[in-house]
Amino acid sequence: MLKTGSVDIAVVGGGMVGMATAVGLARSGFKVAVVDPVQPQAPSGEPDLRVSAINRASERWLRQLGAWDHLPAERLGPYTAMAVWDKDSIGKIGFDAADLDEPNLGHIIENRAIAHALWQAAKRHNNLTIHHTKPKAVALGERDALLNLEDDTLLSARLLVAADGANSWLRQQAQVPLTFRDYGHHALVATIRCQRPHDQVARQVFLPEGPLALLPLADPHQCSIVWSCPPARAEQLAAVDARAFGQQLTAATEARLGTLTLESERATFPLTMRYARDFVRPRLALVGDAAHTIHPLAGQGVNLGLGDSQALVNLLAQAGERDPGELRLLNRYGRARKAAAQEMLAAMDGFRWLFDGSNPVKKGVRDLGLNLVDHAMPLKKRLLSHALGLGSQSLVSWNR
Ligand SMILES: Cc1cc2nc3c(=O)[nH]c(=O)nc-3n(C[C@H](O)[C@H](O)[C@H](O)COP(=O)(O)OP(=O)(O)OC[C@H]3O[C@@H](n4cnc5c(N)ncnc54)[C@H](O)[C@@H]3O)c2cc1C
Repeated sequence: MLKTGSVDIAVVGGGMVGMATAVGLARSGFKVAVVDPVQPQAPSGEPDLRVSAINRASERWLRQLGAWDHLPAERLGPYTAMAVWDKDSIGKIGFDAADLDEPNLGHIIENRAIAHALWQAAKRHNNLTIHHTKPKAVALGERDALLNLEDDTLLSARLLVAADGANSWLRQQAQVPLTFRDYGHHALVATIRCQRPHDQVARQVFLPEGPLALLPLADPHQCSIVWSCPPARAEQLAAVDARAFGQQLTAATEARLGTLTLESERATFPLTMRYARDFVRPRLALVGDAAHTIHPLAGQGVNLGLGDSQALVNLLAQAGERDPGELRLLNRYGRARKAAAQEMLAAMDGFRWLFDGSNPVKKGVRDLGLNLVDHAMPLKKRLLSHALGLGSQSLVSWNR
């Protein structure tokens, strides 16, 4: 039998970005529905393969949403410094939280832990309901939007938020064109044990084949790795036995953390740059990976998505009685977040170009550049505060 429901805003996708948006909107007084068939489980046992480097701006937002306190403290990996270097050369740069008088530069956290914490925070709001199913049809009308769910609920809302990830069903249904480009890399992720303690330093080495990141976990001898390289190389790295993998990893990192050993499965993800041509339509807003996906080399994907959620929530909260699905209002969000995503995409392209391959001229330029920046404290501080999300303006005002 058909059930019906009516809300102010329906969010399709209750992952990290979708649930942050939903909780933020519920806190602001909107009646919200989230549609997602998957409920995140509390993390337990060995660390998950999927982790994110959560910057200070995202931490602040998660605190405001009441989610941070639901994160298990013993599973958080704070990092107080970053070390980046170019393999087989003198090029290097280091960042330290102390340079900005910050306690740390961010935390390495399992994606599942973040999503679970947000779902816990959602329980506090009785104006937020969760539908554990998928939508099967959508209609974007002039006055409202209708979502027909697989459990035969018909939901009407004044605004739909697409937060259903990189292959967003809702974005496709709304026929929002997508610009995309294969990065020519796969990311291999795994958990590893390091002989020497990581000392809460996030490390990244640029190899001729692509960047390799060692992200410090809560255990002082455990890191999560993201090894980006051409697909054939990723396939080979995923297939070799654990011993050979550990040896190749130790060699690639110049044994800076001593001998490295594999402690988990290995998983690979193809990396694609995606960018929705429109972030908003009448009665529709795109957030997170539904709007953009970027190379993980700077660990900024979900930070950018959480920035989207904060910007959208703030805009709608400030708009008072205005219709949240009105295009003129949503355009303010669309313009601001497209600019933020474009800036990030361009930065990733610049990095990728500069660090791609071992052309001696390029290598010379990047080594010189890295070392110059390493010694230019004001510039370094600016780069750092940008990476922490402290320098960017993520708020959008509707009456600007
Ligand atoms: C290897 C790798 C490493 C990364 N490392 C970092 C990092 O260090 N830092 C960082 O900031 N970012 C990182 N990222 C990027 C980050 O993982 C993503 O940006 C982030 O997961 C996007 O979150 P999201 O909530 O937008 O989408 P998702 O996490 O994909 O969530 C989408 C949600 O929508 C639901 N869903 C899907 N389809 C439907 C449907 N039809 N109906 C209803 N619900 C649906 C899913 O169940 C899910 O809950 C990395 C990415 C990769 C590939």
